[in-house]
Amino acid sequence: AILPYGRVSCLIALNARRARVAAPTCGESLMKISKQEQELVQSITRPFRVTRGDRFRLAGIAPGDTLHFDSEDKPRAQEALKKGVQYLAALQDQLYAQDRWSVLLIFQAMDAAGKDSAIKHVLSGVNPKGCHVTAFKAPSAEELDHDYLWRCMKALPEHGRIGIFNRSYYEEVLVVRVHEKLLAAQKLPPRLVTKKIWKHRYEDIRDVERYLARNGTLILKFFLHVSKDEQKKRFLERLDDPDKNWKFSMADARERGHWDDYMEAYEQMIRHTASEQAPWFVVPADNKWFTRAVVAAAIIEGLGSLELHYPRVDEAKQQELAAARAELMREGRGARAPRRGG
Ligand code: ATP
Ligand code: MG
Repeated sequence: AILPYGRVSCLIALNARRARVAAPTCGESLMKISKQEQELVQSITRPFRVTRGDRFRLAGIAPGDTLHFDSEDKPRAQEALKKGVQYLAALQDQLYAQDRWSVLLIFQAMDAAGKDSAIKHVLSGVNPKGCHVTAFKAPSAEELDHDYLWRCMKALPEHGRIGIFNRSYYEEVLVVRVHEKLLAAQKLPPRLVTKKIWKHRYEDIRDVERYLARNGTLILKFFLHVSKDEQKKRFLERLDDPDKNWKFSMADARERGHWDDYMEAYEQMIRHTASEQAPWFVVPADNKWFTRAVVAAAIIEGLGSLELHYPRVDEAKQQELAAARAELMREGRGARAPRRGG
């Protein structure tokens, strides 16, 4: 079904609850987001938002899902993304100025699901000063000498910043679960390595996220859910296109052989770690334009829920500002007019 332009264009350019965000091009003026627009953004995040894992089944979300939008909506969705990116930039400006909340965005996915490009597109408008991306690869010797959360805790965002984890401590219940030899490399005291280790990790992760949420970190977690067929297509593109050859790695292709184990691990992870304070978004990832729209909408909605605003100045500060203005206006008034002929 072809939707009216307005419906698609406001897909992601929306903000929850407070319904007021700074206009992207002009920091001072505020733009009103209508209730209808809020409902629209919710309508594309709700189907993919998991806050209670007990009934979650990965099979319930199709990687190719685009809700009621079809490929004809793609160009308009791209336009909408541009607008959404500007809203995000405006919200981030307030987040930074207010300097109270931190935002942690976690991205997990199989290879070639589009983590990098989703991060790149959705956050393309934000001020780099207020945003930091950390990619977590196989741990170094130094990292293996610590508990598994150590390296991630060091990279948490400061107040007023957005921290992006491209992979995260969730690898500890994914790749490490699929390849148990990685667990052996972690040099844990043997009696702590029991069948319960995954359950314990889920519990500890939940506790840490609750702690962070209680201390002012907004946590949004994205699993970009790509299908095995689409991954194959993207791998083949990487092999066929010389400019993409560098992206291909044999290791990625090998991991594909463990697809079902990974899907099982992802499902268990989401079931055990989805919570109201740290929801998972299971984002269909076979169509990049749709993936980006959902991710952008979820972040806009999340930031909107923080009721951000620029710091308001107190009486004393206002007087200081008035004095500074008067001083600036006086400048030059007493200066002599240039002499003629002189
Ligand atoms: P890209 O391929 O786009 O550069 P990527 O995130 O896949 O991005 P890679 O360097 O290919 O980066 O892969 C990182 C690898 O590190 C992944 O296979 C991941 O599973 C692995 N990894 C991440 N964290 C851990 C961990 N704690 N223990 C073991 N392996 C990990
Ligand atoms: Mg890779």
